[in-house]
Formats: sequence, C-alpha cells, structure tokens
Amino acid sequence: MEGSIVLFGPPGAGKGTQASVIVEMTGKPQVSTGDMLRSAVSMETDLGKEAKTFMEAGKLVPDSIIIGLIEKRLTEEDASDGVLFDGFPRTIPQAEALSRITLVSTVISIEVPDDDIVDRIVGRRMDPETGEIYHVSFNPAPAEIVGRLVQRKDDTEETVRSRLEAYHDQTKPLGDWYSSLGILVTIDGSGSIEEVGKAVSEAINQK
Ligand code: ADP
Ligand code: ADP
Repeated sequence: MEGSIVLFGPPGAGKGTQASVIVEMTGKPQVSTGDMLRSAVSMETDLGKEAKTFMEAGKLVPDSIIIGLIEKRLTEEDASDGVLFDGFPRTIPQAEALSRITLVSTVISIEVPDDDIVDRIVGRRMDPETGEIYHVSFNPAPAEIVGRLVQRKDDTEETVRSRLEAYHDQTKPLGDWYSSLGILVTIDGSGSIEEVGKAVSEAINQK
C-alpha cells in the first residue's frame, strides 16, 4: 500500500495492540508518539523533561514538540514507503502538518465506549523487555513474566478522565476531518483482541 496509515482512536482503544497486525501485513514501521515521548522522558532529555508534566497530567503535549519529533522520524530510511502512525496525529494542526510532509492513504478508527476505556487503561501492563502490551484480565501475561511487568504512571483512573477529555475535545474532531477526505475506516473495537484484529486486517485488505 502506498503512503502512510494512521491508527486512530481514544486512549486504550487497542491501537498499540493492533499495530502488530498492520506491521506484519504491510511491512511499514510503527511510529508511536507515546513510545517516543516515554523514551525521551526516561532518557531525561530536554524534550522529555518538557513533555513529562503534560503526560502525567493527562494533557496533550504541545503540537510544536510532536511535529518536530515526527518530522525527524520521517527522514529515517525505513520511513521512505510510509509508516504506521499510532497515537498521531491527535489535533487538527498535527494532521495539517502531517499532510504537508507525507501522504496519508488510510485512517483506521478503532471505536470503544468510554466506560470500557477506563477498565482497559487501569488494567494495562507492559513488558519492559519486549514492549509487549498485556491486560490483567483481558490479555494476561504468561506466569513466568508477570513479575517484571510495569504499569504506566499515567494509567490511573484519575488521569484517564483527563485523557478522555483531551480526546473528546481535541482529537475526535480529527475523525470527522479524515472522514470528509474519504479515507476513514471505522472499526468496532469493543470485541475481543482477535475479533478486532480480524476487522483491522479486513480493512487493510480492502485497500
Ligand atoms: P492504545 O494503544 O490504543 O492506548 P492498547 O493497545 O495499549 O491501547 O490497549 C489498552 C489495554 O487494553 C491493554 O491492556 C490491552 O491489553 C487491552 N486491550 C486491547 N485491545 C483489547 C480488546 N479488544 N479487548 C479487551 N482488551 C483489550
Ligand atoms: P494512549 O494511547 O494510552 O493515550 P499514548 O502512549 O499514545 O497513550 O500517549 C501517552 C501520552 O503521551 C498522552 O496522554 C499525551 O500526553 C502524549 N502524547 C502522545 N502522542 C501525542 C500526540 N500526538 N500529541 C500530543 N500528545 C501526545
């Protein structure tokens, strides 16, 4: 497929979980602004220090920081045939900036009701060694690695409310924007991981 793909949806919708399906099908590298920011925070770079307060408060990091990160990432060689964006763009200005630097051919929107989002986020755990995402009830990790799993600092019930607010205010309107461009494919994200994965692969196959 020509161009880049965007995985769109609220926090905790399953974008990171489903990204591997698309990476495997298309060979495009996954570009997650959340992962890039978390890595900058843990390396204590200037950018990481600036982003940290926003992330911990469940607010969006300023567009200028995000757009700078993406511009740099897209100059890397593996991005030349397009990438899979996960968690970007999240505002209209980010989408406008993106449209000036690369072609977005498909936007896959994973829809999940807010009530399910809270359960998904609070139970999310990550394996720091592999980056694999688990859930305490919906996708439990094998017993031998449970001890090393970590929980993100912003994955609390309190922070998730402000992240959902940011999503509804700043990110959701982007879905309408992409819909008006005729490139939005909407998927019901409330089924099991396997069911959603099937719908995602059908969406990619139809393109
Ligand atoms: P996002 O990248 O959109 O923030 P994740 O892929 O990290 O979301 O998923 C959030 C949490 O929900 C994780 O703990 C994941 O294991 C779990 N999850 C993902 N998809 C589903 C699903 N279809 N059903 C139940 N839980 C899911
Ligand atoms: P989730 O899918 O669970 O919301 P992410 O890993 O995508 O988690 O994002 C974590 C946090 O990083 C966000 O709450 C926000 O503070 C910041 N962030 C990630 N991507 C962006 C972006 N494109 N624009 C602004 N802030 C972002």
